[in-house]
Amino acid sequence: MYIVCTDLEGVYTPEIWINVAQKTGIEKLRLTTRDIPDYDLLMQGRLAILKENGLTLGDIQDVIATLKPLEGAREFLNWLRSRLQVVVVSDTFIEFARPLMKQLDWPTLFCHDLTVDDTGTITAYNLRQPQAKKQALLALKSLDFTTIGIGDSYNDIDMIQAADYGILFRPPPNVIEEFPELPVTTTYDELKTHIERIIKNGNPERG
Ligand SMILES: [Mg+2]
Repeated sequence: MYIVCTDLEGVYTPEIWINVAQKTGIEKLRLTTRDIPDYDLLMQGRLAILKENGLTLGDIQDVIATLKPLEGAREFLNWLRSRLQVVVVSDTFIEFARPLMKQLDWPTLFCHDLTVDDTGTITAYNLRQPQAKKQALLALKSLDFTTIGIGDSYNDIDMIQAADYGILFRPPPNVIEEFPELPVTTTYDELKTHIERIIKNGNPERG
């Protein structure tokens, strides 16, 4: 039996922090792990910027609620869920993801969460576990599922490589170059075709 572990941002929704930066006009929130590779440093910086600007979780959620899933995302994800078991595995925080998950008809989501004080200020972020994407996939594999991993970027690679079948969706050119062995898809139709092919030809005994 198959199960799909699929990324969220860049696959079904826009990048949340980049859009929060755009909509709040706070340029510094645009920084990503490409600019600051140390994730903890990056997140502490983001939380400090929110605090400096007096932005609460509610303010950020209001911004996120104005974002829309990518065109065709909801339909694709519903097709996928009708076909196979699916878990959306993301490095975002549950409090940020909710407004977007609602628009995606509430698929199962494994991600992280935030600590918020009485004033609504985000005081800390809590990673559910280290290497959460890969660990989720390996855990499902240990339940004897045949796994399919889908993602767009560096933080998905270990999950995709751990999967029985890995697929990149709209990856940046450097990811394509660095991992030429991984199949690349750029539309939901291509992704659909690729998954149908795995189901038809795949050897469920593999892995
Ligand atoms: Mg992504």
